[in-house]
Amino acid sequence: MRAALKTLIALALGTAALLWFVNLDGAVDIRAGTWAINLNLPLALAALLVLVAALLALVLLYGVARRMPRRMRQRQTERDREEGEGAMTRILVSLAAGRGDAARTEVSRARRLMGDTPQLLLLTAEAARLDGDEQTARMAFEALAERDDCRFLGLRGLLRQAVADEHWDRARTLAAELAAADPDAAWVREERAQLALRTENWREALELAGQTGPRAQLAFAAARQTADPKEATRLEQLAVSADPGFAPAALALAQRLRQEGHPKRAAALLAESFAKSPNPETAEALMQSETDPARRLRLAVEFTRSVVRHPEARLVRARAFLEAGEPERSRQELEAAMAGGGGDRRHFVLMAEADPEDAARWLNEAASAASEPAWRCGHCGTEHAQWKPRCENCGTVGEIAWNAEARTGRAVEAV
Ligand SMILES: [Zn+2]
Repeated sequence: MRAALKTLIALALGTAALLWFVNLDGAVDIRAGTWAINLNLPLALAALLVLVAALLALVLLYGVARRMPRRMRQRQTERDREEGEGAMTRILVSLAAGRGDAARTEVSRARRLMGDTPQLLLLTAEAARLDGDEQTARMAFEALAERDDCRFLGLRGLLRQAVADEHWDRARTLAAELAAADPDAAWVREERAQLALRTENWREALELAGQTGPRAQLAFAAARQTADPKEATRLEQLAVSADPGFAPAALALAQRLRQEGHPKRAAALLAESFAKSPNPETAEALMQSETDPARRLRLAVEFTRSVVRHPEARLVRARAFLEAGEPERSRQELEAAMAGGGGDRRHFVLMAEADPEDAARWLNEAASAASEPAWRCGHCGTEHAQWKPRCENCGTVGEIAWNAEARTGRAVEAV
C-alpha cells in the first residue's frame, strides 16, 4: 500500500516536472560566423542531456574495453591453475603407484599450464627418475639448485644421483655445498656420514659419527690412514680412551710409546686393555720384553689378576707355569678353564704338553673342542684373520669385534 502510494507520488511529481520543463519559456541562440541556430529552451536542454548521456556511455565503454584483455587473461590463468593443480594431483598419484610414464605425461601438461614452479621441477625430476631418465632428472635438479629459495632441494637430488652412480668426488662436493646451504640439517649430516663410510674417509666418518658410533674403531682406522705421526698418536689415544679394550689401538699406541722410550706407560696401557678385553695379542705384547721364565710367570700372574677366571687369562698363566717348570699348576689352570666351559682348542693342545702321559687323549679332545676366538663380524658372523674397519663380506663398518666378549660372560657365570 505504502509502496503504491510512493509510486503514485513519484509519477505525479515526474509529470509536474515534465510539464514545467515543456512549458519553459525561452530560447537558445547559437551563432558561429554566418552559421546560426535558434532552439527553444526545452529542446536545447534535452539535446544537452542527450549529449552528456552519450559522452558518459562512451567513457564507460572505453573503460570496459580497456579492462577486458586483462580480465580474460586472469580468467585463463585461473583456468590453467585449476587444470594444473588437477595434473599435479595425478602426478602424485602416478608417482605413488610407480607409473613413471603416466607421471611424466602429467608433468609436461602441468608445466605447460603453470610454468616451471619449484614443485613442478621437483616432480619432473622424481617422475624422470622413476622412468629411468636420469639426464632429465639431473637437469630438473640443477634448475632447482640454481634457485635461491629451493637450492637445498636441488642439491639433495643431485647428491642422491651422485651416490647412486658412485661418483664419489662429485658426491663429496655436493655434500659440502649442502652443508653450507643448511649446516643444521640432520639429513645432510647423516648423508655426509654415510658418504664418509662408503668412501672410507675414516677421519670424516669419526667427526660425523657423534658419540653413538664405533668411535674407537673409526679413530684407529683414521690413525692408520694418516701419514702424520702426531695426528696418528692423537687418533690412537682417542681410540684407546673410547674403548680401552679395543686391542688393535692399544697395541699400536703401546708400540709407539715403546719407540719413544716409555716402556712402563706402554705396559700399563696393555695391561688395562687386557683387563677390559683379554686378547692373546695383547698378552703376547706384554710378555715379549721378558725372557726369564720366572719373571714371565710373575708378569702373567700380575696382569691377569683382575680377570683371573677368564679362559684367556688362564691360558696365559698355564703357559707361563709350564715354561717355569710347574706343570701341575699349569694343568690346574687349564682344567678350571675347561670346567667353566670356556676352554677352546688351545687349552686342550697346551694340556697335552702339560700332561704328556695323556697327550693322545687331550689332542683327541682338542679336535672336537670349540675353535679359538677370532675377529668376527657382529653383523654377518664372518671370521677375519685380522681386525679391519669394514667387513668385506657384508660391507658393514665397525662391526668386526673380538668374540671373546661372549665367552667372558659364560666363563664368569660358570666358574
Ligand atoms: Zn659382515
